This record gives sequence, C-alpha cells and structure tokens, in this order.
Amino acid sequence: MITRSPALLQRHDEDSKTRPVDGSASSDEAEPLAPPPAWQAQLASAIRDPAELCRRLGLSEAWRPGAEAGHALFEVRVPEAFLARMRPGDPTDPLLRQVLPLGEEALAAPGYVADPLEEAAHTPARGLIHKYAGRVLLITSPACAVNCRYCFRRHFPYGDNSPSRAQWEQTLDHLRTDPTLIEAILSGGDPLAASDRQLAWLVERLEAIPHLRRLRLHTRLPVVIPDRVDDALLDWLGATRLQKVIVVHINHANEIDDAVIKACARLKAAGATLLNQSVLLRGINDSVDALAALSERLFEAGVLPYYLHQLDPVAGAAHFDVPDFDARELVAGLREVLPGFLVPKLVREIPGEGSKTPL
Ligand code: SF4
Repeated sequence: MITRSPALLQRHDEDSKTRPVDGSASSDEAEPLAPPPAWQAQLASAIRDPAELCRRLGLSEAWRPGAEAGHALFEVRVPEAFLARMRPGDPTDPLLRQVLPLGEEALAAPGYVADPLEEAAHTPARGLIHKYAGRVLLITSPACAVNCRYCFRRHFPYGDNSPSRAQWEQTLDHLRTDPTLIEAILSGGDPLAASDRQLAWLVERLEAIPHLRRLRLHTRLPVVIPDRVDDALLDWLGATRLQKVIVVHINHANEIDDAVIKACARLKAAGATLLNQSVLLRGINDSVDALAALSERLFEAGVLPYYLHQLDPVAGAAHFDVPDFDARELVAGLREVLPGFLVPKLVREIPGEGSKTPL
C-alpha cells in the first residue's frame, strides 16, 4: 500500500519515516506541547478506511471490494470537511469520485507509469525538482489532506525526498547559488500540511536569498480543510517580502462552499494572488456545464482559472482520461459561454519540455 505519512502527524502516525520540513528529527522533539491547531485535528481524523468511506456516503456493499482493492494500491484519505460537501447515496458525486478507490486502479494500461513526468530525472538535490527556467519546486511536505485518485505523484518516493536539516541547507544552496532563479514553488504532497513553524523556518531562508522574488504555493488544503487558513498561517504569509502566488486545486464547483470562499478571502487579504488549476477528469468535470460552473464559482471566490490539465498518465488512473479531441471541444464550448478571463488554458505536461504544452 502507498502510505503518505504526514510529517506533522507523527504523534498519530508512529510508522512515519518522513521528516518535518525544517529537518528536525521529529515533530515530537520540536513542537511545544501546546494544543494542536484545529486544522491539524481535522487532518488527523480524516477518513482512512475505505469501508468507512462507503458506509458514511451510504454506498451499497457492491462498492466495497473495489474500494478495498484501490486502497491497497494508494491509501484512502478524506477529511470530514470535504466529505460534508458530498451527496450521500450518490456514487456519481463529483467530489466522491475524486477520492473513492476503485478496482480499475489495478488495471494496467499502456503508457501509464509510476513517474509519468519523469521527475526523478530532475531532482538535483533531495526534496528539490528543477524542470523549468527561473523556478524550482520544493517538496515541502510528503503529506496531503486528501488523496486524489488521479494524482500524478501517487507513486512518488516521498521517503527519499524528505531532507534532514543539513540536507535542507544543501537543497537551499542550490537556490542560493543560482541567480537565474526568481521563484520558489512549495509543493508536495501539500505544503500546507507542514506546520506554520516549519513553513516560517523555510520561508525565512528563502526570503534571505536576494534574487528570489516570488513564493508560490501549490495547495489543496484551503479547499479540503478551509480551517487551515488560520491566523498562524496568515502571520508568516503576510510578513514575507516575497510576492505570493497561491495556486489552489479545485476540479468541481461543488468543492467551493462558504468556508472555502472565506479562506480564499483571507489569503487574498494577506497579499496573495489566487489562481486555480484543475485536472480534466472523466465522470467528474468533463462537460461544458461543469467547467463553466467551476469558473464562475472560482471567480465568486476571488480565484482566477489558470490551467486545465490533461491527465498525467500515472499508473492506476487511466479510467479518468478524457481524449485530447474531446478536451479541445470542451474548451471551445467554454469560450462560447464565458468571458476569456474565465477560460482556463488547456495544457498537457510533456516530460523534457521547457514549459507546459498548450493543446
Ligand atoms: S493532487 Fe495534490 S492534494 Fe491530491 S493527492 Fe496529489 S498532491 Fe495531494
């Protein structure tokens, strides 16, 4: 089973072999014995049992064997705040379909592999991926608040990319010694699964690098656990000299409830530019109506649609694929009903290319 052990939840996940982002030996050693923030409790209590997920959503027993089989390949993880936005008794619910393991995940499909973007070839230092000019990506946390079945990093070797404190300094040396870099991207996993103490530690080091201008976060946490956007997060985020871009990941309008809108407003008030990236997913958002509703709802939340990604061919996710022809038709349909600024760019990531490829 693929298990991502949240570095911050080591009190709860005694089997964790990963480290917090600041490289300290364990969060037990480093964290003061203060009560954890509300979002950490929600992270710890996320559903991690496929049978419980089926039961809570009122699915028939017929779904259970597939859910168990998919879970054995990539563990289920669904926080309560995300579950609350699903329709009970509806196995076609677009939020549920993103997180419900299925037996199809065990089927081999030609071209679907463990590392579809060949990231292992672009990892010059532990926890660092350098694919594009001017920017690097830091694997800031091995954990996610939700495990998305289509995730291109569902097989990522997080254990090999969790630097110790000394290794983090070496990783940061890569940024310090390359003046062409102007942007650091915090990714994962989900970077906001790291604690605010750990993130403040990292951001303090990044902003001390004079040629860095921008800090980008790729995160789903403000969506799946909106309480993650709390005062402690806004303290370090608002204080940094770096320009802030937060790219959230939302695939369907139903993900955006009032709590998400409030969380986005707080991030914006802290000076962040908010963008969204979606993945085009069969059975979830592959209609003009669904994508148009998503763009409209994103704008209500103060978020601009940025990318609509074609699925990366990761092993276990072939059943989500939408052919390129259909994807182009969908975006053409969006252009007919939306203003241009609400039409996301349809792209595919091709390993070795210097940027995403527009379709
Ligand atoms: S898509 Fe994002 S939030 Fe979902 S499992 Fe992958 S890294 Fe985590």
